Amino acid sequence: MTKPIALYDLSYQELTELLTSWGEPRFRADQVWGWLYRSLVDDVAGMKNLPQSLRERLAAETVLNLLEPVAEQESLSGQTRKVLFRLADGNTLESVLMLYDERRTACISSQVGCGMGCTFCATGQGGLARNLTAGEILAQVLYFARGLRAIEIERAAAAGDRARLEEQPVTNLVFMGMGEPLANYAATRKAIETLGDERGYNLGARRVTVSTVGLVPGIRRLAEEGLPVNLAVSLHAADDELRDRLVPVNRRYPLGELLPAVRAYAAKTGRRVTIEYALIDGVNDSVEQARRLSGLLEGLLCHVNLIPLNPTPGVALQPSPRETVDAFRNELEWAGIPATVRMRRGIDIEAGCGQLRRREAGESPR
Ligand code: SAH
Ligand code: SF4
Repeated sequence: MTKPIALYDLSYQELTELLTSWGEPRFRADQVWGWLYRSLVDDVAGMKNLPQSLRERLAAETVLNLLEPVAEQESLSGQTRKVLFRLADGNTLESVLMLYDERRTACISSQVGCGMGCTFCATGQGGLARNLTAGEILAQVLYFARGLRAIEIERAAAAGDRARLEEQPVTNLVFMGMGEPLANYAATRKAIETLGDERGYNLGARRVTVSTVGLVPGIRRLAEEGLPVNLAVSLHAADDELRDRLVPVNRRYPLGELLPAVRAYAAKTGRRVTIEYALIDGVNDSVEQARRLSGLLEGLLCHVNLIPLNPTPGVALQPSPRETVDAFRNELEWAGIPATVRMRRGIDIEAGCGQLRRREAGESPR
């Protein structure tokens, strides 16, 4: 038997081609797309306006469910939810939903594991198993979107109201889960485009942030292709000697190549770049490093996100103490570089930056 086609892997164009090759009229693609990305159905049987015969063929030859949720945890604050998914091949991955004010942000994975080996990151410790497909990437968002929509409907029913549904239950998307999105460029791009399609989920690229360890060719390609997403660059050190140790890929793309690519990106897109900097006690948190960092970033349209290191099993590194964080931030601000300290969220369920990894289904969450 041939492998079923994953519907979420198809662009609108490809879906149209598939259905017309089956002898269906073109408008069927619009209908199916609407069921997938507006109605958020997770079963072909729910595509009610399709002829029975088409539903049967879709059910026989395509698949919708790419991710099986096997564990779910909520932080004490109730604002962060983490899900462990199992893929069809048995691999596992984690994704996080963060609720904050009006934003409902999905923090999603682009790979199973990661091959970049950053010394402080739990994902990096396990190496790379494989890239995710576009469908597996966007299905993480749809999973959360469905859950949020179900809550909306329940609330409205309890209040005796007719539900006025949010067009986008998940409002923002950050590629800050497992993996390096620019090492899986094509699938990442396709997932962003599919979710951005106006006939479907309609998530503006401006609500999407791609976080990269600093893969220069990927950054240049993003700039050239003009996908107007936000770019976040994980810097973590302001000199090559230190960055080589923390972020091994720096040996391939040292700061002298990375910074010009980031500057070119900001210049080309006119968009403010986020610089991520995990503060590690006694390693990269001196006022001297802050000064170097402000030198590196001078004149760049950017914003620095300081993240006191989140704990990682088997890694002895510690977060910088509060006073050190403040001193580092002040140094940047004095140099005119906007910097904020990112709130630590979801640490109680290991849902913070760099804490996601492949887990066994029965494995204790901590
Ligand atoms: N691979 C991409 C995106 C995933 S990591 C990247 O590296 O940018 C998301 C963010 O978490 C990155 O900025 C990463 O450097 C940061 N991070 C990794 N481990 C961390 C830790 N233990 N504490 C705080 N931030 C961490
Ligand atoms: Fe990979 Fe990013 Fe973790 Fe580095 S910080 S190992 S690039 S996921």
